[in-house]
Amino acid sequence: MKSFRKELWFNTPNRRQLINITPQVEECLVESGVKEGICLVNAMHITASVFINDDEIGLHNDFEKWLEKLAPEKPYSQYQHNRFEDNADAHLKRTIMGREVVVAITNGRLDFGPWEQIFYGEFDGKRKKRVLIKIIGE
Ligand code: ZN
Repeated sequence: MKSFRKELWFNTPNRRQLINITPQVEECLVESGVKEGICLVNAMHITASVFINDDEIGLHNDFEKWLEKLAPEKPYSQYQHNRFEDNADAHLKRTIMGREVVVAITNGRLDFGPWEQIFYGEFDGKRKKRVLIKIIGE
């Protein structure tokens, strides 16, 4: 069995940002040489997500509005966690959007459904953060 591990680094200019990381994950898959197996992609921080959805700007704006309704960034004072930080909303947004995705690898390709793309969801950016890619198989 082959095993491959890589970290992707991000430092977004905005507090919140969605980035399509499918091309980077596909590069890792090629590098791994795995043809049949499983690919795990997870955020290594508790204020960022990895999730699968459509790469469509309208939907991305809808996510932003929806998440701000559920867990508004401001006022910071509304959250107990913000006694020492200002990112309580980012923890909540991350939990809603998820920590990781797992994608099947078939014939050396990510075995996606229609329109599926992998995103890094940053909710407390402007600093260096990581995503882990782990690929196992043959
Ligand atoms: Zn925090």
